[in-house]
This record gives sequence, C-alpha cells and structure tokens, in this order.
Amino acid sequence: MLSRIDLRGEPAANLTAARLAGVLPRAELDIAAVLPAVGPVCEGVRERGTEAVREYTAAFDRVDLATTVVPREALARALSELDPAVGAALREAIRRTRLVHQAQLPTERVTVVADGASVTERYVPVARAGVYVPGGLVAYPSSVVMNVVPAQVAGVDQIVVASPPQQAYGGLPHPSVLAACELLGITEVQAVGGAQAIAMLGYGTADCDRVEVVTGPGNVYVAAAKRLLRGVVGTDAEAGPTEIAIVADGDADASFVAADLIAQAEHDPLAACLLITPDPGLAGRVDEELTGQVAAARHAGRIKEALTGQSACVLVDDLEAALAVADGWAPEHLEIQAAGARELAARVRNAGAVFVGPYAPVSLGDYLAGSNHVLPTGSTARYSGGLSVLTFLRMIHVVTCTAEALADVAPHIDALGGAEDLGAHVAAVRVRVAGGGGADGGCARPALRSAAPRSYTRLAAAPPPAPTLPLRPDLVGRRAYGAPQLDSADLIRLNTNENPYPPPPELIGEIGRAAAVAAATLNRYPDRDAVGLRDDLAAYLDRSHPGCGLTADHVWVANGSNEIIQQLFQAFGGAGRRALGFEPSYSMHPIIAATTGTAWSGAAREDDFGIDADRALAAVREVRPDLVFLTCPNNPTGTPLVLDIIERVCAAAPGMVVVDEAYAEFADDPEGTALRLLPRWPRLVVVRTMSKAFALAGARVGYLAAGPDVVDALQIVRLPYHLSALTQATARAALARSDDLLARIASLRSARNELIGWLRARGLSAANSAANFVLFGQFEDRHAVWQGLLDEGVLIREVGPPGWLRVSIGTPAEMDAFRTALEAVLS
Ligand code: PMP
Repeated sequence: MLSRIDLRGEPAANLTAARLAGVLPRAELDIAAVLPAVGPVCEGVRERGTEAVREYTAAFDRVDLATTVVPREALARALSELDPAVGAALREAIRRTRLVHQAQLPTERVTVVADGASVTERYVPVARAGVYVPGGLVAYPSSVVMNVVPAQVAGVDQIVVASPPQQAYGGLPHPSVLAACELLGITEVQAVGGAQAIAMLGYGTADCDRVEVVTGPGNVYVAAAKRLLRGVVGTDAEAGPTEIAIVADGDADASFVAADLIAQAEHDPLAACLLITPDPGLAGRVDEELTGQVAAARHAGRIKEALTGQSACVLVDDLEAALAVADGWAPEHLEIQAAGARELAARVRNAGAVFVGPYAPVSLGDYLAGSNHVLPTGSTARYSGGLSVLTFLRMIHVVTCTAEALADVAPHIDALGGAEDLGAHVAAVRVRVAGGGGADGGCARPALRSAAPRSYTRLAAAPPPAPTLPLRPDLVGRRAYGAPQLDSADLIRLNTNENPYPPPPELIGEIGRAAAVAAATLNRYPDRDAVGLRDDLAAYLDRSHPGCGLTADHVWVANGSNEIIQQLFQAFGGAGRRALGFEPSYSMHPIIAATTGTAWSGAAREDDFGIDADRALAAVREVRPDLVFLTCPNNPTGTPLVLDIIERVCAAAPGMVVVDEAYAEFADDPEGTALRLLPRWPRLVVVRTMSKAFALAGARVGYLAAGPDVVDALQIVRLPYHLSALTQATARAALARSDDLLARIASLRSARNELIGWLRARGLSAANSAANFVLFGQFEDRHAVWQGLLDEGVLIREVGPPGWLRVSIGTPAEMDAFRTALEAVLS
C-alpha cells in the first residue's frame, strides 16, 4: 500500500534536508489560497462585531444564534450526560497533562551582572486567552484538555473556549467539548467556529471580549485567520495536516507499526505517514499488515487516501541514515521502534514529539501521555516546539541598578551612545552621575553624587561557573546562594538570624574537651548513624514537649537543617515531582527544590503573611504536591501558624508535609509545635536546628522528628559518615547544657516584642513575629533604608516582599544601635 522511496546506498551524512527536499512526500497547507476568502470575514467581524459573527455562522454553520455565549447550564448538562468512562479518561488525562505542564513553569531568575546591577527574568501570564476547538464531523475533547491545561497552569486569569455551533445539538458546540470545559472549570464558552471565531477572539465583540493569545487546531480557514490576525493577537502555530514518521528496524512488530500509521492516517486524507527502515523484510510485513488492518478500519476511505497519497516507506542503509531522514523531514510525531530506541531518541534534532519503543504509540500522546498533542507540523519542528505553558507567558526583564553600579558602567554608555550619535542617551545617565561634564557628557570617569560615609569590603562571592563547563542546563545562570556578607570588625550584624550570644565560657571548655576526645579517634570514621546524638536530641525534645513519645528512632540529624531539607527533597522530591510552599518564605526551599530537579509551586500568603486554611487546601488540591513546606515561625516574616491549619494540610496533602521549625524555641507559645501532631500523621516531618536557639550556627547541626519510616527512608540518600565526629561531640556537649542555653531566649523574645512595639509606635509596619527577627517596613525605597543603616554601621537584610526589611534580634546594645541608626536614616 505504501509507495517505496529507496535511499539505500546513501550515507547518513548525505541525507540532509536539502537532499531530501522534494523527495519525501508531504501535503502542503495552502493558506495563501484561502486568504482572499478569509480576509473579508475577519474584516467583517472587526467592523461589525456580533452582527457579522451571526451572519457568517448562519451562512457557514447553518445555525442562527441570538448570542454566541453558551449558557452555563449547557456545560453542566453536558458533563452530567457524558459517558462515565469518557469522564474518567478525561480526568486522568487532565491530571497527567497538568503534572507535565506544571513541571514546565519557569522560575524567576535573578542574574547579578555586576555589584549592584541585576536583571530579573519574570514570567507573567497573559490576562485572557482564547482556545479554539474544532467541531464538525469529529469533536476532540482531548484538544480542550491540551490547550486549556497549559493556560491554566501558566496562570491565565480568563480562558474562553470557542467551538462551532452544531445544528444537531440545537446550535450548541459538541457536547463532549462542553463536558470537557465543565470538567476543567471553564465557564465561558462561545458557540462560534471557523475564521469568524478567530476574528471574534482577536478583535472582540459585544458577546466576547478580545483575548491576548489564541491557540488551538483548526482547518485551513482557521489557520488563515490566525495568519491575518498576527500583530493583533498572539497565536500558536498554523496547524497543517498531521504527520508521523516511524523509524523501525527488522525486530519491530509489523502489526504495531501498521496500526500507528493507520491511526495517524485516520485523522485526515491529507495526513502524511512515513515508515523509515533499513529492513526491506519489515517493509513487506508492514504492507501485509496494512492491507488487513485498513480493510477492517472504521475510516478505511480516508486512511487509504492518506496512505496511498502523501505517505511512503523509505528504505535506507542503517538506523543512522533513518535518523538523518527523520531529522530532514522534521515530523510532527516521530516513533522509534528499533534497538537502542532511547539512545536514538536522545539524538533526534527535529521532531514535535518523540515516542520511544514499542509501547509508547502516538495514540498515547494524543490522549494520556501527559505530553501536549498540539505539535508543529509541515516541518516547522525545525524551529518550533509544541504548545506549552510558555505559549501563555511573557518574559519580562526587570532591571535594577544602584548609583555606584550606574557610575561604574557610565563610560561604556558614553562610548556607545556617542558612537550611535544618541547624545540624550548619554545625558540620561550623566544627569544621575556627577562629574561627567555637561548634558551630552564628556567621558571622564564619573564620581558618585554621594559617597558612602563608611566603606566595607565585600567578602568575595563565588564566581559564576565558567560558561564553557557542561553544567546542567537548569543550573546555568544560577549563582551561589547566601546572605550578602560584609567584612568589618565594627559592623553590627543583624542580617542572618543568628543568636547574638556566643556559647557561654563553660560550654566552650566542654566543647573543647569533647572535641579532644573525638580528635583521638579521628583516624576512624564517625558513628554513621549518630546514635548518641540522636538519643540526646530525642531526650531534649521529650523534656521540652513531654508526651510526644519521641525516641532516637524518630530523630535524624545532619549538617544543618538545610542538609535535612536537601535529604527530604532527595528522598521524596526529584525529577517529575513537585513541592509547594507558601510565600514569602525561606528561599532555600525553592532553591533546594531546583537543585534536586523538583518542580516548585509558590502559593501566596495573605496580606498579614498568615496562611488562609481554605486557600491553602485549594492550593494543595490544585498542585497535588509530593512535598508541602510550612515554615513556622516563618522566615522572613516571623509569622506563626496554628496547628489546625497544619493538621488540615496533613489531611489533604497526597505526599509529605514538612513543617520547618527552625525558630520554634523563640515562639511565645512553645506548645504550638507540630511535634504534637506527629503521632497522628505518618507523613509529617518536623525540621529543627541547633543554629538559632542553641547559638550553634557554626557547628552545623540540624535535625528532624518524624515517624521511624521517614528516618529509614532518609538513610537511602544520606552520604555515609555525613556528620563528623567533631560535630557530633560539639552538639552533644551543647545539648547537655540546653537549659542554660535556652534560658537566654526569654530576653531575645522580649527584645523582639519591644522592637515590634517601637517600630509600630514610630508609624512603621512590623509583622507579628514568633522568631528572633522582625520584618518591618514599608518603604518606597527599601534599598535606600538598608544602605542608610549600613552607612550607620548596621547591617540588616534586604529580603521579603518589596518595601520590607528584616532585622535579627541582637544584644540590647545592638538593638539600641539599630534604633538610633534607623532614627537617623528616617529623619
Ligand atoms: N529553615 C529556616 C526557616 C531558616 O531560616 C534557616 C536558616 N536561616 C534554616 C532552615 C537553615 O538553618 P541551618 O541549616 O543553619 O540549620
């Protein structure tokens, strides 16, 4: 049934796109031919809106509609009448598609290009998107899923679906399309099809507001309308007839290959199907299979037309050549049914989607793989990919620059502005940077308008990795994380939430003695399971919260709670998994998510930085995270959480719930700890640290309490001997003095409460804090306040939502200095 194209004897290197042009078949989509017919339709809708849409709908669809808006009841009715098996299938398709597209969401990236100069890439969804779903002979509810889910995941506020009205359904779109809309929570559906639908979405009518982006498949008229509306509205690709290439070797199952060629041909008599094989025997077997299978197929007529038309079997020398032919043709779908399919797939350059091995047919991708089925056709896979969340997002560069950083780069702007004869460009920089001579700018090295009264040396930041290294692509452009540090003995540092009191002298002595004992055994590896330390930690937790029943089996310990969090991500997150947090919160959570390949969703906290239970549960249901992070008290806001919310999240979350209690000991109500919930929730983990309350940040000791199963699971990912003997000895010495160490917390707590009162009395906002720091604001230019404080010798942290700053609680003298400095800056 398939014609043969014999390319045997030609090495892979010869089989370039140029060599293959005109050799491989493909139906062209002649959009230009229909433009003269489509142009007036689009113009009509632009000029006369609803009235024109009604006329074209009556003419083309033979339906007369007073309004194009589909009533909400029709959506609900369609879903209630939907075959339950189809409903279940659509739900699973939605779940998988959502998972895959959530993983596509790009994260905001900040690149520091020089000290004080940064560019942040923000991805912002369009406000309103239109999805076109063809009707006609066949209706594809799966297309609703494939277009709507990426838009929803991208965060598009309003999504309108347009689909042709059908005489057979009383002027409504096909019920399966309406049912899919209802399942997805779409409330606005317009009964309009063809070019007039695209024009309606692009220009807007009385019944339908204009959209920013239109996506969705359609016939040649729809494609032509999209082309005509370019520049008015964003569009996805112009979809042409569908196509498949199957690269198969002699071991491929001929019945599978034939079935997949037929499945593609079933879409359209213009579908193009290529079998590319080095084995003439397979070609023969596939032909035989085709004869039998086509005859039995429901749409035998159009299948035959497609397979005997723009389809072929291409014979090549080997799989290398087969791959070259596939790349040259750049198919919408490429299947590889050959030995080494995975390796071959990894080398494909041009394809919309690749289906690997005998059990990943295109039909899986059409419905349920989770991948998107809106893919580039007509060899446009050479330069574009399929529909994704990026279709509905715009990347916005947000540029920041301090006065010093602008002064540093001013000479370059002088030079380029001068070379381009754009003197006003030069002047716009000069007016900000003194000493440069005149509006059109000389090129002397500019001085700053105001010099900082004190200067501190920045500790060297880790340089960005050399661009030539084969770094994981998702890490390229990332920089080492860490609070900016300044090096000066007389600087008051209130920027990293440390405990301001060093270990007491007795403890220093005890740590020294314990370290000496441990030092005598340093030729040996330490206790891999840190049993003694875990016993001591469990005893400490049991003493401070009796009744939780915690033993060493419930406790795991690592180098700081950051390492605990990393191990949790390694065990319960990773590629294909997703974590959810409530932001603003501790920035290491999304960073560790990224470095472990875990997707991250940040749900917004309320205006008072608290978490609303209903909204949190909605986020959990929407995201279905493998890990939820609840930070309590939260960093950088200090906000506590009530146990009821934590418990409700535990009940709703499908995966692990991690409560990060790094600052728990500073809470006014230490009994509000999630440790109390552990006996009831086997997937709950409470993370703690000795860095804060125990004043042991330098020792790097963090730990968790959870069910013994969780502790066992973490053994899989921990490195052997991760916790040094010296660390274990230090921590145990400190735990032996926990009462002395914790006795100092009361004064930090009251200093915090005093500071909150003082800030508020000064007319500033201060968030409620249960931690050893306070978030305060709100400043129009927080950086100026931060810099002003630094100039006064006090370093705090420029972190949190815009306008806010965070100050850690220091000693009384440090707090006095902070208050004096802030008075000076604000006056
Ligand atoms: N969790 C939170 C909320 C934090 O603020 C911090 C440190 N700032 C940590 C965990 C990590 O602390 P460490 O690794 O020192 O235990």
